[in-house]
Amino acid sequence: MITSVGMEVHAELATDSKMFCRCPVGFGGEPNTRVCPVCLGLPGTLPVPNKLAVEMVIRTALALNCQINLGSAFQRKNYFYPDLPKGYQISQYQAPFGHSGYLEIPTGDGGTKRIGIRRVHLEEDTGKLMHLPSGGSGIDYNRAGVPLMEIVTDFPPDINHPDEAKEYLVQLRNILLYLGVCDGKMEQGSLRCEPNISVRPEGSDTFGTKTELKNLNSFRSVQLGVVYESKRQAEVIASGGQVLQETRGWNEAAEESYLMRIKETENDYRYFTDPDLAPFQIDAGWVEELRTGLPELPLAKSLRYQNDLGLSTYDAGVLTSELAWATFFEECLALGGEAKAICNQMTQDFAATLKEKGWEIDESPVRPKHLVDLTQLVSSGKISSKMGKDVLAEAFKTGDLPSDIVARSGMSQISDESELRAIVEGVCQANAGVVEKYKSGQVSVKGFFVGQVMKQTQGRANPDLVQRLVTEVLES
Ligand SMILES: [Zn+2]
Repeated sequence: MITSVGMEVHAELATDSKMFCRCPVGFGGEPNTRVCPVCLGLPGTLPVPNKLAVEMVIRTALALNCQINLGSAFQRKNYFYPDLPKGYQISQYQAPFGHSGYLEIPTGDGGTKRIGIRRVHLEEDTGKLMHLPSGGSGIDYNRAGVPLMEIVTDFPPDINHPDEAKEYLVQLRNILLYLGVCDGKMEQGSLRCEPNISVRPEGSDTFGTKTELKNLNSFRSVQLGVVYESKRQAEVIASGGQVLQETRGWNEAAEESYLMRIKETENDYRYFTDPDLAPFQIDAGWVEELRTGLPELPLAKSLRYQNDLGLSTYDAGVLTSELAWATFFEECLALGGEAKAICNQMTQDFAATLKEKGWEIDESPVRPKHLVDLTQLVSSGKISSKMGKDVLAEAFKTGDLPSDIVARSGMSQISDESELRAIVEGVCQANAGVVEKYKSGQVSVKGFFVGQVMKQTQGRANPDLVQRLVTEVLES
């Protein structure tokens, strides 16, 4: 069976106010405290579009290589549901702001795959139904009217594997974060993904009936959901049954999908242009301005790190996987840091410490100036890379600069060749028997001498230099 996955992603836009009124946008808080007659859908109110939301959608569409509809409009999508006080949602149907674009995902073998994007449009979010602690149900309209961007992949779908579905979402979320248009918090529902999944036999070009999955709030659940749903559908077909066009929920704990409702068709929504909102005539010059102002996007950044800075695909991927990490890395370079050395620090002990402490990179007491200082101490031979680990740990604790820590503690590496040669010769004289073993062919005893020198210098000897000197003295 071949699996086909279409992705519908809803992203709440990071504006200060709602889409058609001035109510603030936020997460949590007392229910129904960020509402007004407009977002409560009271009769006689008029919506006024949020320009920043329109700008964010057009910037996203441009970043996703879309064409922009300069003549656009809002339509009413009619359906009745308690979380939708007007009885319709203001959305876009015939002329979404963006259409016919694509997003590239890495394929793992160093290549990329192009995932077609059918449309990027703007609408308003609904309220939220909730179970009350005292029993019964309530509705919170704080979310009603929050600007919501919908990004839909092309049909026929380009995604044929659960890993690709996950990677698409990872890349898309990263682009939204780079653009600063969405906070990307899946667990808070700011970014919601609804894959639709169908299966068909190998060789068939007729697509199977698709089902849509809801309530997926992590990358993992998207991947697991696609795996589960394609398997379930294949079993239905194998047992002679028929897959129905359903909307299904995802049970995170049981890792299985369940039937929510039989899906509406587009005709059921009776779309028509909202008479309260004038159609848009977007200035082409403004669109070009927005295009020019786009930041460097994650994939382009990653390729630049590989081609211009010589980083590996893996390292470049780690550093660009979050804008804050890429920014931190580039600040280090601006302060004179060497790319590979900074990258090694960031992806190893630095990353491990942040993970252990549960800190975001912005919360780290170790800043770019610390890492640049540290890597310069190591590369100049003042301290060994092993000492560097201790210095970094101390910098995390105190926030002090590595060079201050080294000066204060008297910690420094012995790289003076004549000083070390004297110590090596002393160790060899004191262990004449072991020297004999070496001379009779037991070269493995070399490690013993290196160990003795490190012991005598309390680990401060430059290890590469000690290796060389021990060989030289033993061979002489
Ligand atoms: Zn309002």
